[in-house]
Amino acid sequence: MVEYTPMMAQYLNIKAEHKDAFLFFRLGDFYEMFFDDAIKAARELEITLTKRDGGKEKPTPMCGVPYHSAANYIKNLIDKGYKVAICEQVEDPKTAKGVVKREVIQLITPGTVMETNMLTERDNHYIASLSHFEDGSYVIVYSDLSVGENNIALISGGWDAVMHELYNQPVKEMVVSPELPETQQEELTKTLNITLSYQDEITFNAEYRSLCDNLNDERLVQAFSRLLNYIEDTQKRSLDHLQPAHVIELDNFLSLDMYSKRNLELTETIMKKGKHGSLLWVLDQTVTAMGSRMLKKWLDRPLLNQQQIEARFDVVEGFLHGFMERDALRETLKSVYDLERLAGRVSYGNVNARDLVQLKQSLEKIPDLKAILRQFDHEKITQLSSELSSPEELVSLLSASLVDDPPVSITEGSIIKDGYHDKLDTYRGASRNGKQWIAELEQKEKQETGIKSLKIGYNRVFGYYIEITKANLHLLAEDRYERKQTLANAERYVTPELKEKEQLILEAEEQSVDLEYNLFLEIRDQVKEHIPEIQHLAEVVSQIDVLQGFATVSEANQYNRPNFSKDRLSIRSGRHPVVEQVMKHDAFVPNDILLDQKTSILLITGPNMSGKSTYMRQLALTVIMGQIGCFVPCEEAELLLFDQIFTRIGAADDLVSGESTFMVEMLEANHAIANATENSLILLDEIGRGTSTYDGMALAQAIVEHIHDHIHAKTVFSTHYHELTALEDTLDRLKNIHVRAEEYEGNVVFLHQIKEGAADRSYGIHVAKLADLPSPLIERASTILKQLENSSEANATDNSQLSFFAEPENLQPEKNTVSQSAASVINDLEHMNLFEMTPMDAMNALYSLQRQA
Ligand code: ADP
Repeated sequence: MVEYTPMMAQYLNIKAEHKDAFLFFRLGDFYEMFFDDAIKAARELEITLTKRDGGKEKPTPMCGVPYHSAANYIKNLIDKGYKVAICEQVEDPKTAKGVVKREVIQLITPGTVMETNMLTERDNHYIASLSHFEDGSYVIVYSDLSVGENNIALISGGWDAVMHELYNQPVKEMVVSPELPETQQEELTKTLNITLSYQDEITFNAEYRSLCDNLNDERLVQAFSRLLNYIEDTQKRSLDHLQPAHVIELDNFLSLDMYSKRNLELTETIMKKGKHGSLLWVLDQTVTAMGSRMLKKWLDRPLLNQQQIEARFDVVEGFLHGFMERDALRETLKSVYDLERLAGRVSYGNVNARDLVQLKQSLEKIPDLKAILRQFDHEKITQLSSELSSPEELVSLLSASLVDDPPVSITEGSIIKDGYHDKLDTYRGASRNGKQWIAELEQKEKQETGIKSLKIGYNRVFGYYIEITKANLHLLAEDRYERKQTLANAERYVTPELKEKEQLILEAEEQSVDLEYNLFLEIRDQVKEHIPEIQHLAEVVSQIDVLQGFATVSEANQYNRPNFSKDRLSIRSGRHPVVEQVMKHDAFVPNDILLDQKTSILLITGPNMSGKSTYMRQLALTVIMGQIGCFVPCEEAELLLFDQIFTRIGAADDLVSGESTFMVEMLEANHAIANATENSLILLDEIGRGTSTYDGMALAQAIVEHIHDHIHAKTVFSTHYHELTALEDTLDRLKNIHVRAEEYEGNVVFLHQIKEGAADRSYGIHVAKLADLPSPLIERASTILKQLENSSEANATDNSQLSFFAEPENLQPEKNTVSQSAASVINDLEHMNLFEMTPMDAMNALYSLQRQA
């Protein structure tokens, strides 16, 4: 049997250890990939696939990327959720016997990247771990390595609760046990788009003690250890930059299930998956990346504690009173860099001098910031400002030591200021003196030889030299200099004194560069000691930024401060914060809402497109805005503190996924019913429309009754089943409302106004008229409607409850006179390509079928 070449054997050994990563195998100036890695990488990176003789009969597939431009290729793969193992030569090829030794020196994964170009400024970037315990609980640890932050959440609601919690979190990678069931692994990768990594080791390592000190639950320690073990294994560097774990008590926050996070478009829209058009898009008036990240966290976890919320309102109110000051505040905040990530890089050890200069500049702004905050002359703002303290000795250190505009590299000097360190000054003096001496030499030689173009130059190979052009050679005395190099039109010379000075200069420069590097590391270590202070500062600055942002949007859009009540939710002239933004000036029609002890369920009827779901969404968004501490879009509001929000709101993409709509509806409704309490808010939009009329109506009614009798959650329920409005008679706390529409010159006009009572049922036909359906069809529909009404009224007199379950035949407008045409209708139906039709095509087709029947 033919053997692999020794190098290929080495490759295969290393690859066996890194099966789930692309192995970037260093060969000279390239990182090469082989076999399946090569085939896949060639496709993903659009690079050429070649072959190499690996020793076997068949050549080995290979592709490679140049070492110096590898970063972009790596970013590309990481962005797609892959991992990359960097394998370098770890001994000098000149002295190596046989194949040069190689090792994986770093595993780059979606959750562990730290390079600025791979992170988005305004987003957190989590690597998480998930652990499951025998008692059925789960623990999730979120860690953002770029800032060193660790958060832990204990989840007791089973697997579903895990999915709800994880939804929308910026988790790029998740460390799980290899024993996590396949189906669950699949949900994480497919539904949430998370790259999985495995780590079975959950034993606690003594090194982690300081990180786990505040964890008094063994499950939390184990879960955290799983993540730490993984990071340690893959990153091969110390973890001392990580912060102790912070426990998130989920019970202290309003919980939103994944349907609500999605349907309410809190941070991104459903269709476009972008921020534009989301609540975040309206509310994000932060001016720093830190503030923006904090706002997202707040949106993800609105508060339950009224005191905490009121404290936020107080600050917003304070900011609202000082208009000029707020402008100044925003300007100053803009010049504060990302303190959180700077602190992260300092402790992780990948900070450069530019970062530290940014840190200094930001810290220097803190006194300005405090001065501006004091101008607001508001107690709560003054309190916040007293929490801002800039570590002065650190600012002095950085100002004294670092030049204002240092280079990116920390190993090539030009970082440290003159006058900071004696020895460095001495080296620099020597180098400067030497250069001065050389400049003088050049003048002297020009004069003595009379050659005006004589110059002294420098290159890395020959050092300093005197250059004379060929045309001037005749002016030079034969033995004046020592010849060193001949060029096409010049000769280069040296003299013993020049070489001597060169030696001095180079030594001084080398020593000063080394010294600068060491001084930089010392400074960095001193900065490290201030990390907790910088982190606290970052936190307070972020809060100030978010709250000034709330004041800014509240002022721009006339939001008002809500009050909280124990048993009454009442909003006067409420608006939808996003829809009103995308509409023309003042076109949005405000509406009131009232839910109290007498009314816990609102049943809302009205034609399609009249504004039912907008009304429901605006309620949920108002509640969320209030509970994150922002003012709300209305004239006046009394809000309840909700513990959970559940929504089943038809989303546009439900239409695309057709057949599963009903299942989705039922899953979402079930989730609400199973988890809601009397302090929850439930929004159900058109439940039951995903199935045939009678099923749907029956289920819708049963769900409303169940919520009314057993859950008592505040609920808004929209339906196009007009029959359900009769529930007002049997359910005490249910009240009908409708969206008002009016007829104007034979057409319906939507007024988007919410009114008491049930809607007139014939609006659907008016809508069809608006859509310009042929008038014979409209007339026909009106006739059918009358017949339907008569027949259901007839049923209602028998038994109002049963009417929902009546056989469809009973309601058929006319008994079908079965004819030949039936066969033709069936035939036509079978041949319709429904997926290619627009709703209007479908309507027209239906119309022609009806004519045939
Ligand atoms: P429904 O749920 O009844 O089908 P939507 O809530 O989706 O209706 O509203 C349909 C459209 O009507 C929205 O896209 C919006 O443009 C407009 N609309 C809804 N509510 C209002 C309002 N209060 N003021 C002005 N326009 C509104």
